[in-house]
Amino acid sequence: MRIGIVSDIHANLAAFETVIAALRQAGAADRLWCIGDMVGYGPHPNECLDLLRDFDHVCVPGNHDYGLLGKTPISNFNNDARFALDWTATVLRPDLHAYLDGLDQPWLPDNGQFTIVHASPRDPIWEYLLNTGDAHECFPLFATPYCLVGHTHIPVVFRETEPGGPVKLAQPEAGEAVRLGESRLICNPGSVGQPRDSNPQAAYAILDQEERTLTFHRIDYPIAVTQAAMRALNFPKRLISRLDFGY
Ligand code: ZN
Repeated sequence: MRIGIVSDIHANLAAFETVIAALRQAGAADRLWCIGDMVGYGPHPNECLDLLRDFDHVCVPGNHDYGLLGKTPISNFNNDARFALDWTATVLRPDLHAYLDGLDQPWLPDNGQFTIVHASPRDPIWEYLLNTGDAHECFPLFATPYCLVGHTHIPVVFRETEPGGPVKLAQPEAGEAVRLGESRLICNPGSVGQPRDSNPQAAYAILDQEERTLTFHRIDYPIAVTQAAMRALNFPKRLISRLDFGY
């Protein structure tokens, strides 16, 4: 079975629709694993949550989802993020608010061989897992061979070279398949709706359970469509322009 892995959709419908179309083509859209932050930053929270819920899926909440629900203080967010969350609160349908509120497990500790958590096994909601030192400290904190995280919006693979040993970091190329073998891994597919690795293309991954590979993908999407919707809603300029550059 092939599973689509998506994270940090951030209410960017044009990006999410493009990724879903690509997953359908790759035969990987029967099931989605979603690593959180479905809302925030973008102009289409209802549409993105509806699209996600069209699929058989598992999902964990992210910091923006928690911010919207009041489960983490709004003071934790910068002005632009706060603007988007405040706006989202005014438009989010009650059934979708209830759906987000029902995501009460901040991490899924044994989803097949994968632990799924938005930020890190040490802090499921807020830790930015960016370097090998922090990853090294996180490997003992989950029991499965593999862990999927999001949050940084940067595709990355942390590999434990031996049990308790040094951790290596790799930034996977688009199309690169990581073999699921003996090494334990922490993998981040990157962000669907707001990439931050200086590549504006939407990021996602496909898990092939038979081949035992995790393949990283990038895809162009109509950025201007999302930006026009943001402009019409008077979203902060920086949130609009950063989509052009992927940071
Ligand atoms: Zn995010």
